[in-house]
Amino acid sequence: MRDTDRALVQAATAVAKLRCRSENHTVAAAARTADGRVFTGVNVYHFTGGPCAEVVAIGAAATQGETELETIVAVGDRGRGVIAPCGRCRQVLRDYFPSVRVIVGPADALRAVPVAELLPETYVWADHQLGPQF
Ligand SMILES: [Zn+2]
Repeated sequence: MRDTDRALVQAATAVAKLRCRSENHTVAAAARTADGRVFTGVNVYHFTGGPCAEVVAIGAAATQGETELETIVAVGDRGRGVIAPCGRCRQVLRDYFPSVRVIVGPADALRAVPVAELLPETYVWADHQLGPQF
């Protein structure tokens, strides 16, 4: 963990504490670009499948024109600490940012790992876009 990784966890923790105050928003994410810009987001719970905080943070970055993220972390509300990304987010992160680092692990042993390590032997959507056959 770099100092910037610890700062990213702190940013997500602050957003979780400040903004996750209902059952609709229970997780916050923070993502950092290579040049140090940080984008945050909270999940948008809905029974139809509202987006996780990581996806909202990706959208917040894209809204500001950032399309490359270096590191991302999600933190739960009510002091739950760092939460590993769900399967869907792992796939999204892998497809959008193949080299992104994801902060995972228990509070006393946080580490930043390449997303590929969280999704071994994965389906890579881009590898299967063959175009028209006829
Ligand atoms: Zn997710």
